[in-house]
Amino acid sequence: MDHIGQIFRPPSEAESLLLQISLGCSHNKCTYCAMYDHPDQAFRIKKWDTIAADIDEAATWSARGVVVRRVFLCDGDALILPQDFLEKVMLTLREKIPTVRRVGIYGDARSILRKTPAQLQRLKELGLGIVYHGVESGDEEVLSQVQKGSSAAQAVESAQLLKEAGIRHSVMVMLGLAGIQGSHRHAEATAKILNAMDPPFVGALTTTLVPGTPLFEQAQNGDFQLPDPWGMLEELRIIIGNSNFTRCRFHSNHASNHLPLSLNLPTDKEKAMGMLNQVLDRRDESDLKPEFLRGL
Ligand code: SF4
Repeated sequence: MDHIGQIFRPPSEAESLLLQISLGCSHNKCTYCAMYDHPDQAFRIKKWDTIAADIDEAATWSARGVVVRRVFLCDGDALILPQDFLEKVMLTLREKIPTVRRVGIYGDARSILRKTPAQLQRLKELGLGIVYHGVESGDEEVLSQVQKGSSAAQAVESAQLLKEAGIRHSVMVMLGLAGIQGSHRHAEATAKILNAMDPPFVGALTTTLVPGTPLFEQAQNGDFQLPDPWGMLEELRIIIGNSNFTRCRFHSNHASNHLPLSLNLPTDKEKAMGMLNQVLDRRDESDLKPEFLRGL
């Protein structure tokens, strides 16, 4: 496989063929993100011959007993690539590796809203099963501060488009992204947007200050203060407490999180609230994941 730079993928794509069809992120401006800051990963579409050779290589794996059922298209927001290019990738995958049952991709409101309903429907027909979308916050002020490049209203609109196309939507939000000062407002607005989007999957990640990012600099200068673990869990309690999902698999078990949770909501809501209330009442650090086990 021709993998350039660091490859990122959602945890649920651990078993997938990671097919890198583009490099970097077309936005690359979020103030907390250093995923694609290496010059080698400046945004561009990879050459078709390279992608075709990777698909051909994966197609030979079946002779070794490796059955490719899932494919994840990398990098950052590959959904923003032109429709005809994405269709060519999906058609070639279908032709060369007929065992593929689902293709996943990173996208955001910018890339989802650039597609027409018919284009999304076509990608669904060709095997696109899930879009992973970092919504991060429902608060417009936070989204603007972190230079997310899209609004809360656009995130809700993109959820509707994916739903209509029958494509699953996995949404990530970031605990702590508004700092201590905006914490409560961020959590309430995030609960609200998640309810409006009503996605089948939600992942709540913990904001991490990554050296070299503008957010790290702001923290160094005293312009941003990350909430402590209890503040993060308070946000989680607000989000889960206000949740009103139809049916959602809700995770807060990313490597960065202080208290791993994996819930079916609304079924597990009461149980989760009981646990969060208890942990927040006790404030005993032994209830939290030790720092050395957190993927920072
Ligand atoms: S859209 Fe995603 S990958 Fe791109 S800069 Fe923002 S967080 Fe990073």
